[in-house]
Order: sequence, then C-alpha cells, then structure tokens
Amino acid sequence: MSEPRDESRMEFLLGLRRRGINDASVLRAMEEVPRDKFVGSEFMEGAYADQALPIACGQTISQPYIVAYMTEQLDVKPHHRVLEVGTGSGYQAAVLSHLAKEVITVERYRTLADSARTRLETLGFQNVTVLVGDGLSGVPAHAPYDRIIVTAAAENVPQELTNELADNGVMILPVGPHSGAQRLVKIRKEGTELNQTNLIWVRFVPLLPGQAREL
Ligand code: SAH
Repeated sequence: MSEPRDESRMEFLLGLRRRGINDASVLRAMEEVPRDKFVGSEFMEGAYADQALPIACGQTISQPYIVAYMTEQLDVKPHHRVLEVGTGSGYQAAVLSHLAKEVITVERYRTLADSARTRLETLGFQNVTVLVGDGLSGVPAHAPYDRIIVTAAAENVPQELTNELADNGVMILPVGPHSGAQRLVKIRKEGTELNQTNLIWVRFVPLLPGQAREL
C-alpha cells in the first residue's frame, strides 16, 4: 500500500497535466523535486496541493501550477544558463536545475538566500548558485543569460535585466501593479529587438529595489 504522500504526489502530477502542462521534461522535473522539503514543517501536509504557501520574511513559495507553467514557457534547454530573480524557498531554482546547465538565483533577503542555499546543497542540487542582492539591478557578474525568470511582480520591465539577456534569450516575468493582478509576460530578444507576448494573469509578491534590511 502506498503512503498518503505518494498519492498526493501522484495527484499533484495529474493535476498539472489536467491543467495543460505537457512538456515531459518539465513534468519530470516537477516530479523529481520534493516540494515538501521547501515549505515549513507546519505546511508539509499541504505541500502537494496546488497552492502558494507562506515562507519566511513575509514571502511565498509559488503555486506549483504557476511554477510548471512558467518553466514550460521558458523553454529551457540542457545547455542554458538561467537567472532567477527571487529565490524565496529555492523551489523554482530546483525545478530549473533539472533542465538547465546552470542556475544563478538572486534573493534580496539574506535569511531566505542562506536557507535556500543550505536546502539546495543538502538535497544535492549542484548546479545552482544562490546570491544575495537586488535582482532589479541585474546580475552582471554571470551575464549574459539564455533565460531569465522573475518570480516577483515588476511594475515595468527592468531594462537592467533585458540588457543581460543573450541574443535569442527569453525572459518571463509578472508585470503589473503591486496590489492586484499582474500579467505574465514573455520577452524574446532578437538582435536589438525585444518581442513581447502576454500570457496568463497571476498574483505575485512585489519585486522591490535594494537588498532587504533585516533585524
Ligand atoms: N521563486 C520562489 C518564490 C519567490 S517569492 C520559490 O520558488 O520559492 C518572490 C521572492 O522575490 C521573495 O523571496 C522576495 O524577497 C524576492 N525579491 C523581491 N524583489 C527582489 C529583488 N529586487 N531582488 C531579488 N529578490 C527579490
């Protein structure tokens, strides 16, 4: 007989398929990353439900469907170097690490960055680098990136990030007001042109400037 946890993990994958995620490599990555290890022990029971959950510093781990959707839209190839802005728990970075050559992820809260780094190391994710800093001003030390994913809502598309996209690079980010719904936007860089496609409506915590001040 299988554990309830196995059943909820199976239901988790079926739910993603039902909602239209069909890229096999994305589904495999979602299957392989244990979301229960990225949430606090008080939320472990609901780790495989399709819901965002609170993490430290007043932030959230995104809803699994949105993680899978953004990952699928990002179209990550095995030779890609990916930048994530907004490490949070490290969950999205872990999913990306299965698909990309290298993942650089930046978080403005040192507390979150440190715990995500420890968690990813403990779980054996070796191609992820967690940095503390303000992703809004870009991460030039490792640029350019084949793919950029922003997991907090920007009021406008940050030019510092589009500047760091490689030619034919793709960036996905939620754009819109900090309170209310935002539009997920996909930007492809072709030569000097940026081509934008609007995707689904989403609700993310705000992308804020500067490294966070912590007590
Ligand atoms: N991807 C995360 C969820 C992130 S929630 C996960 O899988 O768990 C959004 C995160 O973006 C928060 O942790 C927030 O602190 C961070 N953030 C907001 N503005 C930022 C900025 N300018 N630079 C880096 N991180 C930022």
